[in-house]
Amino acid sequence: MHTDNEQDTLPLVPKGIAAEAGGTGPVLIGGHCPHCRRDFFPRPRYCPGCMRPPQERLLSGDGVIYSYTVVRIRPPLGLPQPYAVGFVDLNQSGLRIFGLLNHGDIDRLAIGKRVRLKLGPLGQDGGGQACMRPYFSLVAAEGDDD
Ligand SMILES: [Zn+2]
Repeated sequence: MHTDNEQDTLPLVPKGIAAEAGGTGPVLIGGHCPHCRRDFFPRPRYCPGCMRPPQERLLSGDGVIYSYTVVRIRPPLGLPQPYAVGFVDLNQSGLRIFGLLNHGDIDRLAIGKRVRLKLGPLGQDGGGQACMRPYFSLVAAEGDDD
């Protein structure tokens, strides 16, 4: 059991891909190429279109589930068993990204459901230390039948 203060001090894994952004909740740290007008996540070192270095762009973590799967084999890195991963289509940027889904939502996951990025204590880093991870959690929506 962690207090809020302890959670704040846990390292985020992977490093540098997401951040708390005050009132709007966590955001993804992506990239944007102003020449090609393209967003990326994660931020690449070079834009694949023009080979210029993209700018940092904070991306909203609101989206919908495009596809997902539940993994029931023994998980790596202290993740819960079972855990879920999936592709999420981000509303604002239009990017389709792969990530962890909230294991507490496994029985309610469905393609097309709305999700939102969260950062929370989840599993361990490669050295066995507790860490924070970004994951997508279902957003309750009007009209949901559950
Ligand atoms: Zn470019």
